[in-house]
Amino acid sequence: VSARTVMAGYSVIMGTSGVALVALPAWRGVGWAAVGALSVGAILLGVRRHRPRPGRGWYFLASAVATATVAAGASRLFAPLPVPAMVVIGALHVAIVPLTFTALVCLARSGNPTRDRAALVDALTVTLSLVLLAWVALIRPELPHATPLDLVVAVVRTLAAALVLALVLRLFLSRRRTVAIALLTTGAAGALAADLVATVASVGTGPREAAVVGGLVFYAAWGAAALHPSMARLAPSHERLERRISLRRWFIMAATSLVGPAVLVAQAATGRVADVELVAAVWSGIILLNLASVTDAANAHGRSLSHRERHDTLTGLLNRGLFAHRLRAALARRRTGGDPIGVMIIDLDEFTLLNDTLGHSVGDEILVTAARRLSRVIADRDLAARFGGDEFAVLVAAPVGPAALEAYAARVGAALAEPILYDGRPITVTASIGVAWSGADGAGDDLLTRAGLALRAARSSGRGRYRSYSADVHGPMVERIRLRGALTKAVEEHAFTVRYQPIVVLASGATVGFEALVRWTEPDRGPVEPVEFIALAEEVGLIEPIGEWVLRSAVAAAAHWHRADPRAPYVSVNVSAHQVRVPGFAARVNRELTQAGLPPGNLMLELTESVLLREDDTVWAELAMLRDNGVRLALDDFGTGYSSLSYLVQTPIDVIKIDKSFIHSLSAPRQRVIVDGVVRLAATLGLRVVAEGIESAADRDLLGEMGCPYGQGYLYSIPLTGPEAFRWICGDTPSVAAPAPAPRST
Ligand code: C2E
Ligand code: MG
Ligand code: MG
Repeated sequence: VSARTVMAGYSVIMGTSGVALVALPAWRGVGWAAVGALSVGAILLGVRRHRPRPGRGWYFLASAVATATVAAGASRLFAPLPVPAMVVIGALHVAIVPLTFTALVCLARSGNPTRDRAALVDALTVTLSLVLLAWVALIRPELPHATPLDLVVAVVRTLAAALVLALVLRLFLSRRRTVAIALLTTGAAGALAADLVATVASVGTGPREAAVVGGLVFYAAWGAAALHPSMARLAPSHERLERRISLRRWFIMAATSLVGPAVLVAQAATGRVADVELVAAVWSGIILLNLASVTDAANAHGRSLSHRERHDTLTGLLNRGLFAHRLRAALARRRTGGDPIGVMIIDLDEFTLLNDTLGHSVGDEILVTAARRLSRVIADRDLAARFGGDEFAVLVAAPVGPAALEAYAARVGAALAEPILYDGRPITVTASIGVAWSGADGAGDDLLTRAGLALRAARSSGRGRYRSYSADVHGPMVERIRLRGALTKAVEEHAFTVRYQPIVVLASGATVGFEALVRWTEPDRGPVEPVEFIALAEEVGLIEPIGEWVLRSAVAAAAHWHRADPRAPYVSVNVSAHQVRVPGFAARVNRELTQAGLPPGNLMLELTESVLLREDDTVWAELAMLRDNGVRLALDDFGTGYSSLSYLVQTPIDVIKIDKSFIHSLSAPRQRVIVDGVVRLAATLGLRVVAEGIESAADRDLLGEMGCPYGQGYLYSIPLTGPEAFRWICGDTPSVAAPAPAPRST
């Protein structure tokens, strides 16, 4: 049921009850009980439906309304009550005030744990002004008729109601203005009106009906506030507190400061000047509070400047400069015999990708969430900082040793990797963590560098890993940095080649396609494994130019084959997730096809599961565009990623490539069952299956028995150069076609 329908239903029932309440004074006891119960029910329902975090404030609110309902209902329904019951009900009446107060304080702070002193001062001045006005205008004129007890009750009730209104008003003035907040304010105003009128009526002779309307507004509005979806976020999660004196606050200060003179002038005009001392005292109180507020704002301005210089504005964590300062101090203490320290550098995996696909505001929210979790999980004496971008750091004050430090890193990693709800969908952002310990061999002042190197090592071993610095991290890292330079140069010089590995029909051995595989020979080192340099290219953002170059070369080669023979094999090109996520991917591929004159049916793209895993509409749309044009899609390395079988049903692909690790272990019964299952499932779904890495005739025969239609592997051919592939197609089988004794990659 939509929120709108629920609210409409609620309004109808509340409205009807309200009319009945006003129209049937005899049934007022029952009426109040019903209206109150309705309001409590609405708040609880709202909490269930919209799941505010934390929900505490709303539960307090529900209990306040419930208490009010019980107190008011019982005293009306069962009057006259015996004295003990009167005492209980009196206590309930009193309890409403702290409950409401707690509720509102919780709500005002939700999502904003900082103490908001300005809000408190504003609430106080507004309260004092309201009480002063109520006293002078309403209570004071009735004074001659009242007993002292009546008076005390009247003042306390007015004070409480005014405080509540002031709090809600503050919520209304300082936060985003949402429907829920507006309704809360309306309800509080209703309660204040009802209380004032009831007070005046009990003290003196005022009308009672207005109190009924006020009470109704109170119950109805607070219930409705909880039913509105905006109740889940009264304050945006990373709203910064306003330190300046805004125009709104200026008006509050001006208005409250003017209450005193206004009262005196009004009294003078009517010729009934009274309580001058009281007015003067309250007025002075208000002026002093406002003065304090101004001073506070001025000081806070200065403070926040220096705070801003040392802290990260988005997350409020320390910034790099202050962190480095604290680290230096800790290292200096360490040199003079202090405790060893530890440093952790934390980097969110694939954050740039998330930022680009989900938008920067979501990116910011992810960073703020990460910062909050980090602050929660680290020990009190440790320090967390944000270095910029998605890089965070922790200074660990006194780690017991490297093992404890690693366990600590694991805890931090686990806390960060908890799913974040975005638009109702969970997204998981893992973090890679590098750790360095000052007690380690040869550790000097370069802890940050060491942690940084360890982080790179952690990242290159996969997502969500942590790693401590050790000497064997260093060598490969330096090599990696060197390789990165060489790769950048290679991209500029197009120093890559493409090899083509035949894909055949297992039953006949006929070639149906070629997989294009990139090759790079590094001048200093010789051939570099594609898995190594492709991972590096993905990490440093070079995969797009490389991928584009491979695609262009492969499409050109296939177009050449196609011109020679219209039934020539297709070419199958590996595409990295990063390439697909750059907008306009489909258009670029189609342009390559047009320019080379290759029919789209002669191109297949091999995607890994990571491309499809994140259900991103733009990626789906790009892929759909390609398929509509006739390009086929293959799911590469099937079985090594996360894909569930149900996933296959929804995914717009044509071909599954079973990973070679399964084919290499076909002799194991379990693997055989898996491959067999995949082959059958694919047949049911109308997908084609290519088995990768067939090296022996035995594997081929087993696959044939299972009904696997296609395969590739060293049994048929190692990857061939372009000219070799062309000769292969022309039937002029090159010598390399014999099973090659190539080493198995692991
Ligand atoms: P892949 O797409 O699964 O490619 C198949 C890999 O298996 C190739 O390794 C191929 O040489 C190897 N192979 C083929 N037959 C056999 C066999 O019988 N036994 C064994 N042990 N291996 C066999 P290669 O060329 O080293 O490529 C490794 C991976 O690098 C590829 O795995 C692919 O994921 C990636 N890659 C290669 N070229 C490109 C490219 O142009 N772009 C992108 N994004 N990735 C590429
Ligand atoms: Mg492939
Ligand atoms: Mg593969």
